[in-house]
Amino acid sequence: MKHFKISIIGAGAVGSTVAYALMLKNVAAEIRLIDIDEIRSRGEILDLSDALSFCGPSQIQKGTSQDASNSDIIVVAAGKRQKPGEDRVKLLAINKEIIKSIFDDIKPINKNSIVIMVTNPVDAITYFAQQFSDLPKTQVFGSGTFLDTQRLRGQLSKRLHIAEQSIHAYILGEHGDSQFAAWSCARIAGIPLDKFGLTEQDLSVIAKETRNKAYEIIAYKGSTYYGIATCVAAICRTIIFNQNRVTPLSCYTQEFDICLSLPVILGREGIRKILKLPLNEIEQKQLAQSAESIKKIL
Ligand code: NAD
Repeated sequence: MKHFKISIIGAGAVGSTVAYALMLKNVAAEIRLIDIDEIRSRGEILDLSDALSFCGPSQIQKGTSQDASNSDIIVVAAGKRQKPGEDRVKLLAINKEIIKSIFDDIKPINKNSIVIMVTNPVDAITYFAQQFSDLPKTQVFGSGTFLDTQRLRGQLSKRLHIAEQSIHAYILGEHGDSQFAAWSCARIAGIPLDKFGLTEQDLSVIAKETRNKAYEIIAYKGSTYYGIATCVAAICRTIIFNQNRVTPLSCYTQEFDICLSLPVILGREGIRKILKLPLNEIEQKQLAQSAESIKKIL
């Protein structure tokens, strides 16, 4: 198997937990952590290295910008977190500058590298990362609503007592307040969801709880990282093993000229194809509204 190298830029709560999730999944031979806060990253690397002897043969080391440039996958989780009620335009301005300085440092990037953006607001940040990186847009995308989609499937699974893997349902649009559940396309064994006894009200509660879950976690403990880190590790696994898995990711759409989440086929070379779901009229409006909401902060 090819020796895969993953660099994680931003060794904070999210970045270091991504490293941990990658180690547990044992998918990369080499993991590099990069952070401007050298003391914190040194501590994270030392702590993570203790876990190595229980996992596979990965190596975890401090990385440099050159390491990032020649990595197979670059995960960007550097920047400020959004605090409850914080203005997203302000957050974008701060994180955009951070992202720009990161790409200025690591360019030119290996032309086959895949960049996974996690920093929030992830859709807007992914849009800028595509411009700053000089890589094809299919190789630079955001974690988007993959985690929200898993949350949605988790809730449906609990209510219906059906395994999440058998539930095909998506949260699309913004990784944020304007996201929506594409209920009209949701299926279990090809059967529409409304045949499973869920009422309109149930669906609306499920969508609302999905949308608010990050806020709920943040209200209790200040930030979220286990879910997103596992989600990023799953994206890396899909790329490394060229699984061509259908995954909702924040990708560039010509129709709206921004990045937002749609289901894509993800493989070794990045996004192979964006899938167009047969959304109903209301959902098409929701998608356009979500695009508008992202455009507004851009
Ligand atoms: P954190 O504060 O724990 O870590 C951020 C790290 O970024 C810090 O260690 C900081 O030193 C580092 N950093 C800042 N500027 C840098 C630079 N120029 N180069 C390298 N490193 C730099 O924050 P966190 O909880 O790990 O969150 C990180 C980002 O991920 C935030 O923007 C957060 O909102 C986002 N996030 C996204 C999702 C998602 O679903 N997309 C989920 C959770 C968090």
